[in-house]
Amino acid sequence: MANYTPLPKTFASTEAMAEFVATLSGEAVAPACDSASSQGGRMAGEAALAAVDPVAYGASRNHLDGAVTRLSPYLRHGILSLDEVRNHALAAVADPRQAEKFIQELAWRDYWQRIYLAYPDRIWNDVEAYKTGFDADEYDTALPADIINAQTGVTCLDQFITMLYETGYLHNHARMYLAAYVVHWRRVRWQAGAVWFLEHLLDADPASNNLSWQWVASTFSKKPYIFNLDNVAKYTGHDINTRMSDNRILACSYEKLNKLLFPNLGPVHG
Ligand SMILES: Cc1cc2nc3c(=O)[nH]c(=O)nc-3n(C[C@H](O)[C@H](O)[C@H](O)COP(=O)(O)OP(=O)(O)OC[C@H]3O[C@@H](n4cnc5c(N)ncnc54)[C@H](O)[C@@H]3O)c2cc1C
Repeated sequence: MANYTPLPKTFASTEAMAEFVATLSGEAVAPACDSASSQGGRMAGEAALAAVDPVAYGASRNHLDGAVTRLSPYLRHGILSLDEVRNHALAAVADPRQAEKFIQELAWRDYWQRIYLAYPDRIWNDVEAYKTGFDADEYDTALPADIINAQTGVTCLDQFITMLYETGYLHNHARMYLAAYVVHWRRVRWQAGAVWFLEHLLDADPASNNLSWQWVASTFSKKPYIFNLDNVAKYTGHDINTRMSDNRILACSYEKLNKLLFPNLGPVHG
């Protein structure tokens, strides 16, 4: 009979646990994020669910300091089910229409999962060609070091990258900004960015993550997603630096950005 050595169950710190897991798997493990900002387990999941306010969510979800729920790690790891979250939201409102926005977002998660099940090859392959005027082979395959090191020189983006590393969480808008910057400003393939996010997000999910990267990149949508500094300023609070002098390359009109980022496309209408 094989002789098994019991694995340790307690560690001096999260870092020590991550190091131990790395020795078992033989793979590098991303630096541990601040676990205190996100507690695991069913009780913590139920507490997060009890705090959901679908009405406030509908009114403010696009803002970084809006009433977003941070339920994604619990949903991702099966601690909460989509069904129970939807039922909870419906029970929390007087009229089901008040929970509509929130349930629509849950539906996105369900949609990406169904695509993954039906077409697993879409997770790492371009679903369609880029609609940016560039072929896939014109994009770099590796993420530049300044992005990895949060030293792009675009201050708001460096803040988002630091937030990702420190908390393992990013608001949806911040995820979209970083993805768009990686793919469209730096012309790096979405796959490199998707791997990077998967290494650091507590809710890291191949379907929601990779298909959202493809949506931003335009390989799974009609056009590339881009943003400008006005948009960041509109949706972020005082904690994010949106001064023009610290974020110059984002301080443009959409017309100018389209010309700069997609010179092969010609004038953009609509
Ligand atoms: C580039 C990019 C990468 C992403 N990577 C992931 C990922 O790895 N894992 C992940 O769970 N989500 C991912 N998302 C989707 C979304 O950003 C997160 O689900 C959401 O920000 C999680 O925070 P929350 O729980 O506070 O969301 P809330 O806004 O409170 O939404 C409630 C729940 O609805 C679901 N949801 C909300 N928005 C979306 C969306 N756009 N797509 C799919 N489900 C959504 C989530 O399960 C979320 O927990 C990604 C989005 C982008 C643009």
